[in-house]
Amino acid sequence: MDADRSAVYLVKVGELTLKGGNIKDFEQRLVQNAQLYLEGKNAHVRLRSGRMYVEAPESSVPAVEYALNHLVGIAGWAKARIVEARIEDIRCAVMEEAVKARDAGARTFKVEARRSDKSFPLNSHEISCEAGAAVHEAGILSVDVHRPDAVIWVELRERCYVYGAQKPGHRGLPCGTGGKGLLLLSGGIDSPVAGFRMLSRGMKIDCLYFHSHPYTSPEAQGKVEDLARALARYGVGTHLNVVPFTKVQEKIRDTAPPDYATVLLRMCMMKVANKACAMTGAKAIVTGESLGQVASQTVENLTVTNSCAEYPVLRPLIGMDKDEIIAVAKRIGTYETSILPYEDCCVLFSPRHPVLRANLEETEAIYRSMDIEGLLEEAFEQREHKRFGWLP
Ligand code: ATP
Ligand code: MG
Repeated sequence: MDADRSAVYLVKVGELTLKGGNIKDFEQRLVQNAQLYLEGKNAHVRLRSGRMYVEAPESSVPAVEYALNHLVGIAGWAKARIVEARIEDIRCAVMEEAVKARDAGARTFKVEARRSDKSFPLNSHEISCEAGAAVHEAGILSVDVHRPDAVIWVELRERCYVYGAQKPGHRGLPCGTGGKGLLLLSGGIDSPVAGFRMLSRGMKIDCLYFHSHPYTSPEAQGKVEDLARALARYGVGTHLNVVPFTKVQEKIRDTAPPDYATVLLRMCMMKVANKACAMTGAKAIVTGESLGQVASQTVENLTVTNSCAEYPVLRPLIGMDKDEIIAVAKRIGTYETSILPYEDCCVLFSPRHPVLRANLEETEAIYRSMDIEGLLEEAFEQREHKRFGWLP
């Protein structure tokens, strides 16, 4: 082994094993993405028989762990030690892992051995028993093969790997294998989670945000930028387009029945999203809507919104409840930003009694009577663009 690549990580590749024909593309993309996180870190990434191996110098350990904590398309990972393929060495390494597990609070354990090197004199079961007995006899942990607190893995492949605690990965498919989507990103809890859901299905995500200065503050936009930055870390970078929507909102307020304001605003957002998709090459629009969560999210109102979209509208949260959404937001680190109390543009002009089941023809007629297309074009032309990278 390269002397200055002493840290070794074993990475379990998730769902990729299911992908028959195009598995090569998925694997290649996963490796490329991992390499992007590790540029300049003297790390080596390779994939072999459904496992990814990352080797790097000890000094690059924080960068490797950052990468594995953000990379989508992996089921889990562990820092492993490489030992000589001799039972004495395996036993020693397993004992050291057992001590670590005990110090972390475990009381029971089992050894799980796998052997693809069939020339090794002991079979998997014998390796587990030998190494396990040593730990047990030394009084470090006691054996429980059914519900152990800790599992210590021994994998005899072209080299012998021993490892303990595994960290879960984000699963899904490698970002960049599923085309590009345009996320309508607001400062709320939902839309960043929707973006994460799609990027963890392989979609590259660009973001679009509508602001209403001076009704909304620069802090509200700062919050959206922070959310885009957070998503960029999983999505191997993202672009954020910021479109000024003040005049659009004022026009809706001044010319349309108040109860229709929210659904009309949604229609306007879709019209601008179409332009942004055409510009960026996105093939779908992604939103954080969840059925019934607020008035604009009834099936009738979503139908009206859809009528303006020239691209499929993906709503990955449509059947999720708020608690589930919040759990994901906390896991991906967007929750704390999302709950900061800066007002959103929609809230300011929200009608007191929004129409719950907008009629498509009626709403389209109101939309047309506003004669708002010119303003939408102007708003889009005035967009600002920002780019966020994937590194901390
Ligand atoms: P979120 O928590 O994502 O803000 P929400 O439950 O508050 O969602 P709405 O305000 O009705 O719901 O917004 C529904 C969806 O519309 C959002 O998830 C987002 O995709 C999009 N959206 C709303 N406001 C904006 C905005 N200012 N800029 C871009 N997209 C927006
Ligand atoms: Mg919102």
